[in-house]
Amino acid sequence: MKYGLVGAKGKMGKEIRELFSSHGDDLVLEVDVDHFVERGIPEVIVDFSSPNAVPTTVELCKRYSAHLVIGTTALTQEHFELLRELGQHVAVVQSFNFSEGIAIFQKLLRNFSRLFTDWDCWIVETHHNQKKDAPSGTALMLKREVGREVPISSLRIGGIFGEHVVYFANANEVFEIKHSALSRKVFASGARKAALFCLKAKKGFYNFLDVLEGGIEHG
Ligand code: NAD
Repeated sequence: MKYGLVGAKGKMGKEIRELFSSHGDDLVLEVDVDHFVERGIPEVIVDFSSPNAVPTTVELCKRYSAHLVIGTTALTQEHFELLRELGQHVAVVQSFNFSEGIAIFQKLLRNFSRLFTDWDCWIVETHHNQKKDAPSGTALMLKREVGREVPISSLRIGGIFGEHVVYFANANEVFEIKHSALSRKVFASGARKAALFCLKAKKGFYNFLDVLEGGIEHG
């Protein structure tokens, strides 16, 4: 696979580069702040950078007719509009979390949160001290699956890759579901699965669950 990488010099950029090259993929476009190296035409562009990069990333996808996998968090409604519009031309996979465990977590909450309607609920997320946004995009995704107003607490300590706990409690019982990422490799691996999915998918706007389940278009 020939791919481009936006955020090429970042922590996720390094992880993606290592994992993709271990599978023989060819990094033909590198983009970062004050850094643009083009060695070929990418089939897919992977963006783990900053929300500021989105307009340029979308332009690059159009220029090369490249699909897009985007994991960047703290996206606004305007960014989503740009990405959905891009989905009318190529395949776009957007997720605030590319780990399979979090995709399962989402499905668990989607199916079982209604059993906890009368219980208190609280989400606690913990990340490394360099993470720029809070709450995490993943916590917001999990909150959406709970389907009601839920407080989120964010801790920014040490080198933690990403830990999410959803608590349900009543006067007599506490129920908690927890997911911990043990390395950044998990996100890079999910991003590669999404990139391979794009090569076969119809144009459209997809999330990571679509990738894992084989592809339902969201229009
Ligand atoms: P990082 O700060 O280490 O790297 C970000 C890189 O993007 C830096 O090299 C920076 O110079 C570059 N960058 C910033 N603005 C840019 C722009 N306008 N154009 C091009 N490059 C630009 O951060 P990170 O830990 O690698 O995370 C990057 C993003 O990925 C964050 O939004 C983070 O929340 C997100 N993330 C998502 C997942 C997921 O599974 N979806 C997992 C981990 C991180």
